[in-house]
Amino acid sequence: MIDETRKEELIDQGFRNKIATIDEKGKRNYLFPKKPKGTLYNKRSLFSIVYLILFLAIPWIKVEGDPLIMMNILKRKFIIFGQIFGPQDFFIFAVGMLTFVVFIILFTVIFGRVFCGWACPQTIFMEMVFRKIEYWIEGDYTKQQQLKAMPWNGYKIRKRITKIFIFYSVSFILANYFMAYLISMDEVIRYVNEGISSHLSTFFSIIGFTTVFFFVYYWFREQVCIVVCPYGRLQGVLLDKNSIVVAYDYIRGEPRGKKASAENQLGDCIDCKACVRVCPTGIDIRNGTQLECINCTACIDSCNEIMENIGLPKNLIRFASENNIVKNQKLKFTTRIKAYSVVLIMIASALVSMLLTRDDVDITILRTQGMIYQTLPSGYIGNLYSARMFNKTHKDITLTLGIDEKEGSIEVLGKQPTINKEGYAVLTFLIKKKSELIRKRKSDIKVNFYINKIKIASKKTSFIGPVGS
Ligand code: SF4
Ligand code: SF4
Repeated sequence: MIDETRKEELIDQGFRNKIATIDEKGKRNYLFPKKPKGTLYNKRSLFSIVYLILFLAIPWIKVEGDPLIMMNILKRKFIIFGQIFGPQDFFIFAVGMLTFVVFIILFTVIFGRVFCGWACPQTIFMEMVFRKIEYWIEGDYTKQQQLKAMPWNGYKIRKRITKIFIFYSVSFILANYFMAYLISMDEVIRYVNEGISSHLSTFFSIIGFTTVFFFVYYWFREQVCIVVCPYGRLQGVLLDKNSIVVAYDYIRGEPRGKKASAENQLGDCIDCKACVRVCPTGIDIRNGTQLECINCTACIDSCNEIMENIGLPKNLIRFASENNIVKNQKLKFTTRIKAYSVVLIMIASALVSMLLTRDDVDITILRTQGMIYQTLPSGYIGNLYSARMFNKTHKDITLTLGIDEKEGSIEVLGKQPTINKEGYAVLTFLIKKKSELIRKRKSDIKVNFYINKIKIASKKTSFIGPVGS
């Protein structure tokens, strides 16, 4: 069995003192990863095609005239899979976020950072869109290095202008889609038809998003995953020896060397560095799990190709836990995993029940300020209220109000309240009770709300009377 000390003896620890993207003078070290190929890369490409089709299709899909997904932060209106949420649903959002965070923690504890390499939008756009465009314009990594090293001439200027133009254009398309997810595709199209001059602020927002995307994908790149993304920084506390990550089998691979054979006692790693050349974050996975590793699996493909060429078994680099490599142990359902699973089930259940029981209309009843009660003709006592309502459905609705008959009667002041779809309305109403039926100064009363005589909500409020005053 190999303990940590032995592992450190086998693997040079010098990598801990530097990061691949910053050179010795502290300047940005621009990476030129080799174009990956292999089974896993093909699967990732296929997955990313489905992902991109969905990304581009969703803003065009409508549910009862509304977008399938819309996150309009400025108007505080959110539509998720056709369900409309308003500011009153903040609590559901908070529980939803909590569920997502616990799910990500649990997923990471078990499967490491595989989300980053396969499903994170940053990686999908960087590796599967912009990087592919770059390979197409500039060629593979050696050609890119040559282009960077060559003096400025017509060829280099042409290549750079083409790349900047295409990167900026794709960023512009992305920014428009990003905007469509915020304000809906219909609005984006309307703004385009009405012209830039009528919607200057939106136009500048799109140009701002475009420039940020361009900066990220043209220059900043893997730095997002290495130094910006908070999820990446969490790996240190989330991963343990049972987590399945992209890992180098150092038991089998070390000591590394050019001639792997039984006579010279070397391991299976021939130190060809194919796994390093292909890494988009510039690390050497043979040093062990590192924060920079986004689990993109490009190094697995690369090493498998080498192993195949030299006639050794594949999977010297593979998805495996430390315990799997050292002790040949399969995934264990540890106490930590069990604890996270229980918490996740509890929060997710709360979220599901909140979603299932939420009303189509959010109603808040407030007593009219500055008034306690009114003495009305014919021996009635009246209380005045206002109700603020948010229609979370996809159509306009007309509400009727009522209370249980024995409690008195209700009278809406003004016309019958109609609330536009996804809109707000405030209505004022009066509740009247016969004074001889009032036994307490303050009593609870239930106001019922109906659409087409079907009760859709019941709200409790209080009724104040003169008794005991
Ligand atoms: S080490 Fe391998 S899995 Fe990790 S980022 Fe580099 S190529 Fe991808
Ligand atoms: S690709 Fe495989 S054999 Fe080559 S250096 Fe990496 S781990 Fe060693």
